[in-house]
Amino acid sequence: MSTETLEFQAEARQLLQLMVHSIYSNKDIFLRELISNASDALDKRRLAGLHDEALRADDPHIAIEADKDARTLTVRDNGIGMSREEVVGLIGTIARSGTAEMLRQLKENKESAELIGQFGVGFYSTFMVADNVSLVTRKAGEDTGTRWESAGEGTYTIEEVPDVPVGTAVTVHLRPKDEEDALYDYADEWKIREIVKRYSDFISFPIRLVKSEGEPETLNSMKALWARPRAEVKDEEYAEFYRHISHDWTDPLEIINLKAEGTFEYEALLFIPSRAPHDLFQRDGRRGIQLYVKRVFIMDDSRELIPDYLRFVKGVVDAADLSLNISREILQQDRHIQMIRRRLAKKVLSTIKDLMTKEPEKYRTFWREFGRAVKEGLLGEADDRKAILDVASFATTAGDEPTTLADYVSRMKEGQEEIYFMTGESRAQVENSPHMEAFKAQGYEVLLLIDPVDEIWVDAVPEYDGKKLQSIARGTVDLPSDDKPSEEKAGEYAPLLTWLGETLEEVKEVRLSTRLTTSPACLVSDADDITPTLEKMYKAMGQ
Ligand code: ADP
Ligand code: MG
Repeated sequence: MSTETLEFQAEARQLLQLMVHSIYSNKDIFLRELISNASDALDKRRLAGLHDEALRADDPHIAIEADKDARTLTVRDNGIGMSREEVVGLIGTIARSGTAEMLRQLKENKESAELIGQFGVGFYSTFMVADNVSLVTRKAGEDTGTRWESAGEGTYTIEEVPDVPVGTAVTVHLRPKDEEDALYDYADEWKIREIVKRYSDFISFPIRLVKSEGEPETLNSMKALWARPRAEVKDEEYAEFYRHISHDWTDPLEIINLKAEGTFEYEALLFIPSRAPHDLFQRDGRRGIQLYVKRVFIMDDSRELIPDYLRFVKGVVDAADLSLNISREILQQDRHIQMIRRRLAKKVLSTIKDLMTKEPEKYRTFWREFGRAVKEGLLGEADDRKAILDVASFATTAGDEPTTLADYVSRMKEGQEEIYFMTGESRAQVENSPHMEAFKAQGYEVLLLIDPVDEIWVDAVPEYDGKKLQSIARGTVDLPSDDKPSEEKAGEYAPLLTWLGETLEEVKEVRLSTRLTTSPACLVSDADDITPTLEKMYKAMGQ
């Protein structure tokens, strides 16, 4: 059987270079990445086995074997394995859309280690410690296996191999020790034990250290984190689990535990990330909730479990009474799943509300990163609307800091009945608009709604706390302190207004206004016309 030599795709090559030259200070994580992949592969095989018994594994597990003399470390799993095409496609290229973006950012950014984690380079991290990596794999249900090998320098070899067990074995050949690493070696048993305990304790399959003498030793406790009382779990353990399921590098901003008892029991462990993923506004971006049934992983990316506007929330829902065979189609219909979704949404929103009062700094981070997504929720289920408005904040003419609606209302002037806002493309554009003049001059606060989504939800949300939301650029807005244009003035200006109305063919009507102070005229839309920004958006969307 012939061996083929193939080239890494350009982006993969760049990434490997970064790994080989190790811009990353914590090299221990390469083992975490290998274990994480093995665990994912075991999950996939378990799922495949539910539909096709022949694909099931006896004794699903992960084995680690170290050879100090040969300076190798092998991580073996009896998971789903990979076909030859998959090896080439998944390991030889970086399919993920964010990678190009990451490389660009890496070049200009010093916090490179964090970025790598955010984009999850996974398997490639082995090249931080290895001068050679080989992978032998056979996919469940296929006859032949594949061997892949690379020194991380731009090419890899690939060949067919007969007689390999189903699953994947990755062998890293450790680089020679250098001075600073001389304290330990990744082939030391105590070091392996320490890394597994620290990063992979919660992995739900046994991770066994194979010893030259005696029985293998299971290194992880396999305890489902969400099933343990909050007080017993260290923040660090939560953070590791979060990193495992989210492929993020940073710590979560907030951890949420939830337990429902009664006729339909479930437990949930949710995380609010500390920053938005690069694909937050991409339709096919990764979503965060995993579904388990009685500790058994069922599926990733369960969009049914959380409303779309909270798609950045990561975590696990473990339901006691669902079938292991449940499909996405059934999930969409299931009444209990809909109940879970409503409950999770409520809980996330109430958690954010708590942050506002108890940890304002965290709240500000949250809103800066995710506010734009959360506001999409104002268009959906009316149920959540009030709770979303309660946690929203907006730029305002009253200062540089964003304000909540409640705070706005508390500052409303004597006689003011409405919440004034203006939408637009930027703070400067909105603040300098002629519409703003009278409001400024008379000291009325105006909310500056400058996210594109603001244009849309303001139409769906009539009021907050009994106060109408009123655009200052639409229809007639009467300021409580305004004098109406007098009859006499109106008569005086009538010929001018008529002439203007006839001359300016594009406008519907010309009115006398008390709204302006320095500008002679301004354009307003009718109350139910679309705004200029929205008009632009629709055009951009081809409508
Ligand atoms: P990620 O795990 O974030 O997808 P990785 O670089 O760690 O990225 O792995 C890339 C892909 O290679 C995985 O998504 C998976 O499809 C495949 N893969 C890696 N390791 C294994 C394994 N042990 N068994 C099966 N597939 C694997
Ligand atoms: Mg991985």
